[in-house]
Amino acid sequence: MAESGYEVFWKEALSRIRLEVGEQDFSVWFGNLEYLKTESNALLIAVPSSFYRDQIKVRYQNQLETLLKELIGHDLTIEFEVKPQKKRENRSGPVESEGKEAVSGQEKKNTDVPEGKEDTQSPVRVKKNRHPQLVEDYTFERYVIGDNNSFAANAAMAIGKNPGTAYNPLLIYGGVGLGKTHLMQAIGNYIHEHSSAKIIYTTAESFTNEFIQSIHEDQSSKSAFKNKYRYVDILLIDDIHFLENKSETQAELFYTYEALYNAKKQIVFTCDRPVSELKNLTERLRSRFERGLNVDLQRPNYETRCAILKKKVEDSRIAISNEVIALIGEKVSTNIRDLEAALTKLIAYAKLVGNPISLGNAQQILRDFFASPRQANMSVELIQRVVAEYFSLSPNDLKGKKRAQNIVLPRQLSMYIARELTEYSTTEIGQAFGGRDHTTVMYSYKQIEERMRADPTLEPTIESLKRLVKEAGTRT
Ligand code: ADP
Ligand code: MG
Repeated sequence: MAESGYEVFWKEALSRIRLEVGEQDFSVWFGNLEYLKTESNALLIAVPSSFYRDQIKVRYQNQLETLLKELIGHDLTIEFEVKPQKKRENRSGPVESEGKEAVSGQEKKNTDVPEGKEDTQSPVRVKKNRHPQLVEDYTFERYVIGDNNSFAANAAMAIGKNPGTAYNPLLIYGGVGLGKTHLMQAIGNYIHEHSSAKIIYTTAESFTNEFIQSIHEDQSSKSAFKNKYRYVDILLIDDIHFLENKSETQAELFYTYEALYNAKKQIVFTCDRPVSELKNLTERLRSRFERGLNVDLQRPNYETRCAILKKKVEDSRIAISNEVIALIGEKVSTNIRDLEAALTKLIAYAKLVGNPISLGNAQQILRDFFASPRQANMSVELIQRVVAEYFSLSPNDLKGKKRAQNIVLPRQLSMYIARELTEYSTTEIGQAFGGRDHTTVMYSYKQIEERMRADPTLEPTIESLKRLVKEAGTRT
């Protein structure tokens, strides 16, 4: 069969799938695909980003392959090639992000500069006024993508490009200092720069205060409040966990939400935990929060921590060696805010003395920082303490040799959580559990994984234990 012959089948498969999935999903997921070629029974399709690739694989690959098989009469696989849409003008979709950074300067330039015009002075390009509620530096360009946040970041970029379409609302959740506010504001900044959409950024706390104030005033300020929030294009509400127990504000937000959602306006929320774990939240609002896409931000691993530090060092224009970066990356594993704080301290020092910072120097300067309870506390001991307390046991029970069932499970759980939350090796974890062998730690980990598959209640327990540990770790 001639190569071009398959393109016909591809197109036919697309038009069939269009009928099945409807216009909106079709344009989101298939509008940016491009047939490239067929090679030994594999159809090669270009996708605009890894995000698209992963999403399409999960959502539609089987369906597409089945359709193609029906059409062609034999098996055929689909392979995707990520091809950023630099020159494919006027198509919308998420930005490519194979590398560590969200949007490289180069790529950004390409999408921003109108055809035929050379943008020779990008940095001083006349920019639109900044948005009054948004931090100027909270952009996608400054958001380093790593394993911990790539799904969330790609979804956020997709929303920046196509607000109010595919993921509405978007809810970003994760612990303190992991980049929720930055990412949410990056969506706002991006849309602000590329359109004239009316954007409001607020925290759930300000929203609450404003609402309370408005009900104590006259009718006109009440409706001013309603109008302010119900006639925007993009609504960004940060830290919705603040709404726990606030039933009237919840009701108000619910109506605001309905108005915006029905008008296909983009809504983005952040929360410090999964919505399912918020207490005293009305069911209707909970279901609205969960309706669109919920994505989480995890703690960055060592590589990502170093990548973030490198980026910030470049931005600061202060020379800091890779050795020093590696030191901070290794010692500060709590969150990105802490990474920044450690770096800021070093940079301030470097500016003061006007000398490059040696490794020894850095160790000296950051000694207190590294030893702070918060940094030191994310330890196996902390996990043992929290888990023991949760099960009304003592940490010594977990470290000891007793094999009673009411101790074995908590012990395995704490090993599991230690593997998940810390970067200690299985050997180190085994040590902390009364000198057990690393194979015991691995075995426990597997046991918990198996149990989770069999027992759906275990995972929520583990999640809340993890959060308790993190909270205990951040308490100073
Ligand atoms: P959260 O709202 O989750 O508490 P923030 O968004 O305030 O966290 O992030 C804390 C700090 O870390 C901010 O200064 C932010 O710019 C920075 N930061 C977070 N994530 C990243 C990232 N992926 N790349 C670069 N900087 C980041
Ligand atoms: Mg925040």
